[in-house]
Amino acid sequence: MRERLYLFDTTLRDGAQTNGVDFTLADKLAIMDMLDTLGIDYIEGGYPGANPTDTQLFAEPHVLKATFTAFGMTRRPGRSTSNDPGLAALLEAKAEAICFVAKSWDYQVKVALETTLDENLASIRDSVRAAKAKGREVLLDCEHFFDGYKANASYALACARTAYEEGARWVVLCDTNGGTLPHEVEEIVGEVVRAIPGDHVGIHAHNDTEQAVANSFAAVRAGVRQIQGTLNGLGERCGNANLVSIIPTLKLKPDFAEQFDIGVSDENLAKLAHISRELDERLNRAPNRHAPYVGESAFTTKAGIHASAIVKDPATYEHVEPESVGNRRKLLVSDQAGRSNVLAALERIGLTVNKNDPRIARLLDEVKEREAIGYAYEAAEASFELLARRMLGTVPKFFDVSYFDVKVEQRSHNGGGPEVLTTAVVKVKVGNDTLISAAEGNGPVNALDVALRKDLGKYQKFIDGLKLTDYRVRILNAGTEAVTRVLIESEDETGEHWTTIGVSPNIIDASFQALMDSIVYKLVRSGAPA
Ligand SMILES: [Zn+2]
Repeated sequence: MRERLYLFDTTLRDGAQTNGVDFTLADKLAIMDMLDTLGIDYIEGGYPGANPTDTQLFAEPHVLKATFTAFGMTRRPGRSTSNDPGLAALLEAKAEAICFVAKSWDYQVKVALETTLDENLASIRDSVRAAKAKGREVLLDCEHFFDGYKANASYALACARTAYEEGARWVVLCDTNGGTLPHEVEEIVGEVVRAIPGDHVGIHAHNDTEQAVANSFAAVRAGVRQIQGTLNGLGERCGNANLVSIIPTLKLKPDFAEQFDIGVSDENLAKLAHISRELDERLNRAPNRHAPYVGESAFTTKAGIHASAIVKDPATYEHVEPESVGNRRKLLVSDQAGRSNVLAALERIGLTVNKNDPRIARLLDEVKEREAIGYAYEAAEASFELLARRMLGTVPKFFDVSYFDVKVEQRSHNGGGPEVLTTAVVKVKVGNDTLISAAEGNGPVNALDVALRKDLGKYQKFIDGLKLTDYRVRILNAGTEAVTRVLIESEDETGEHWTTIGVSPNIIDASFQALMDSIVYKLVRSGAPA
């Protein structure tokens, strides 16, 4: 018999405090849908009455599997529950549950709230009672619980007990300032659950010592049965406990999986990486490549000896299967690459080579030499494929660029500002034909690209669907002189994407190499005849 452990998401309330995050109503609805699909038990939508978006969100009921929850303060000191507009807005909110926040640190009650300890307890009692009378499930977030407990344990506990005894379903112990350490959490929670049953106690941890996830698990080990957190660890300052890390640990680590059930099925666990990236996309944030479980690098192996073991059996260097959370394994070709990395990369691109072929060692040396001067093949697999195919003797010589010229001019007009004009001329040999094309562009690389792809004779039809979708430039300091690394991302009519690379002290030359690789890669892929 496994015990039920409940997940409470506060992405839309505490996560909305993240610097640079500003949810619209449409964002909130889309994120609610993601959370509900995943199998979260409680979705805290926001703080009705605090801002127009949240007021609108709670104006209508939502059909969810999860318990939709409104957040707000207990009644203000010195007022009655019937004479507090903030509490009234909360009680009117179309939500099945209400999560109140109340102070539980005596110092905060006196200094910030400017009231007596007894009046704060009365406020908790009255608010829970009023929400229960409205038929709501009630939670109480005990703000600053751990700091409060260290200062005055009996008062912090009295706040929690008052809510529990009045019928609150959950009392939630908040590490509001995020400075509590896992061993302290475990010890304090252990004392709390002697007074309040653990299946009525939750943990709300902040990440200020990068231990919000560890603190959540420490609390569970000590007896709590609800974890509060956010997707991707959103939240103010250093964020909240990251549910995207917590969920797979609960599902995949036997110590937790054998003891607890959560609302997230195995099938939905496999959507986790996708959900994490979808949230970043919606917020226009770059995903954290190194995020545990779901990051782009979470199952990426670079070092040679690790890669050779992983090819034999993935369990040698992976703690869980990447597919279980919807991620994937990646082996990188890099300056640390060993033979097995190269062999795995060749296999992935469909080149079968005997593993004792001496050309493998030559290819590896070439990769290492090039990476020493600035190439980065792990980011440009198409260029790696061409290099490998050339060394294994299988890339036709489709065409030759015998000349190119790029010119940038600035001209002043009478009355107008200066105008910049860019033109490129390219001379290409295709078989016995010499083709000359000229083009204008919005910059030198664009002009060169347009001219190069204007007329490739008999190959033109193979590159008609080719588009450049991204162009990235970095200046590297390799040795004494700076070199430019250009990465070009391309796409074709079938939706296939590939990335090519060029490195040179000259940005135009680096761009030209990456452009050439992109075109040749497309010709190879399309099976263009030699
Ligand atoms: Zn918080």
